[in-house]
Amino acid sequence: MIERHPTVPVRIGKVTIGGGAPIAVQSMTNTDTADAEATARQVEALARAGSELVRITVNSEAAAAAVPRIREHLDARGVDVPLIGDFHFNGHKLLERHPACAEALAKYRINPGNVGRGSRRDAQFAAIVEQALRHDKPVRIGVNWGSLDQAVLARLMDENARAPEPLAPQALMHEALITSALESAAQAEALGLPHDRIVLSVKTSGVQDLIAVYRELAGRCDYPLHLGLTEAGMGVRGIVASTAALAVLLQEGIGDTLRVSLTPEPGADRTLEVRVAREILQSMGLRAFVPRVTACPGCGRTSSTFFQELARDVQRYLEERMPEWRTRYPGVESMKVAVMGCVVNGPGESRHADIGISLPGTGERPVAPVYEDGEKTVTLKGPHIARDFQQRLEAYVARRYGSSS
Ligand code: SF4
Repeated sequence: MIERHPTVPVRIGKVTIGGGAPIAVQSMTNTDTADAEATARQVEALARAGSELVRITVNSEAAAAAVPRIREHLDARGVDVPLIGDFHFNGHKLLERHPACAEALAKYRINPGNVGRGSRRDAQFAAIVEQALRHDKPVRIGVNWGSLDQAVLARLMDENARAPEPLAPQALMHEALITSALESAAQAEALGLPHDRIVLSVKTSGVQDLIAVYRELAGRCDYPLHLGLTEAGMGVRGIVASTAALAVLLQEGIGDTLRVSLTPEPGADRTLEVRVAREILQSMGLRAFVPRVTACPGCGRTSSTFFQELARDVQRYLEERMPEWRTRYPGVESMKVAVMGCVVNGPGESRHADIGISLPGTGERPVAPVYEDGEKTVTLKGPHIARDFQQRLEAYVARRYGSSS
C-alpha cells in the first residue's frame, strides 16, 4: 500500500482532486477550440476513453465564445466531464469579456510565466483570480519549464549570486520553478482565493528534473499536485519517458491527478494519452479500470499466432463488455484474467488469476485447461476454444460479481 502525500481536496465540478481521492486522469484536446462541434467531439472521445477531466485551450475571443457551446454539445450527449480552460497571455481579458465561458469551465489553468510582463503581470494575475472568485472556480497554477516566469528566475539568480553557498544552475532552475508556483499560490490566496481552490503543477521535459522538482514541491506544500512530463514526445519514447517519471513519483505517494502529454502521430487517435495514463495507474495498483489480462510473451514453444490472437481478443472482449459490466457487476474492473501459451507457466499463472486459460504449446496435447479461482474447471478443445473461453468468462463474471450488485 502506497502512503499518499497528504493534500487538501479540491472540487472540480463532479471530480475531487487531492485529499486521498483516487488519482484522476486528465487530458487535453488539440482541436481549434473555436470549432465547438469538433472540440466537443474530441472531448467526448477523451471522456469516453476514461479522461475524468478534459482541458481545452482558450486562446482567443472566438475560442472563449465557443466554450459555452462546447458545454451544451456535451451536455446534450450526456457527457458530464468537467472542462478546464487553459489560459495564456490574455486570460484576464477573455474571462472578463465572456462570462458564459468563465461559468461553463470547471477550473482555470493559469501559467504564471505567461500572465503578463512587468508591471502588468500582477494586475492581470489578480484579474484572473477575481474571475475565479466571482464564478466560484478553482485554479491550477501551472508552471512550465519552457515558460518560466523570467522575473522570478532573474531575482533568484541575483540572490544566488550573493549567497555564501550558491546553488548549481540546475538546482537554481528547479528552485525557480517551485518558487514561481508557491509564490503565485500565495498571491492568489492573498487575493482571497481559498486554499482548497488551488492545484499546482511544475512541469519539465526531463525525467530527472521532474522527479526532483515534484519531490521538493511535495515537501513544501499541501496543495494537490497535477503530474505530467511536458513535451514527452512521440510514440514509444513519450510513453516510456512519461511512465518512468510518473511512476517514481506515484510510488512515493506524490501526485493527485495526471496527464500524459504525448505528441500524436499525424491523424492518430488523441485518446492514446488517456489509455497510457490509465495503464500507468492500473499497472501500479493505484486504480482499476478494466480487468487485466496477464499474457506470457510467447516463445518457441508456441506454434502459431493463435495464442497472440486469443490474448488480443480477450483483452478486446473485456474492454467491449466493460460499459455494461461496470454497471451490473461492481468490482469487475479488478478481475485478473490469464491467457498463457503453454504448460511451462500456463497452469501456474492461470491459477493465480481469477480466471485463466493455458493453451497447448508445440507438441503438447491439443487441449486448453481453464482455471477459475485457482481450480481447474474445464478443459477446452476443438476449433472453438476462443468462443468457449469467452462464454466461460461471461458466466464467471455473472457468478462472481453479480451477487454483490
Ligand atoms: S508460458 Fe510457455 S509459451 Fe509462454 S513464454 Fe513461457 S514457455 Fe513460452
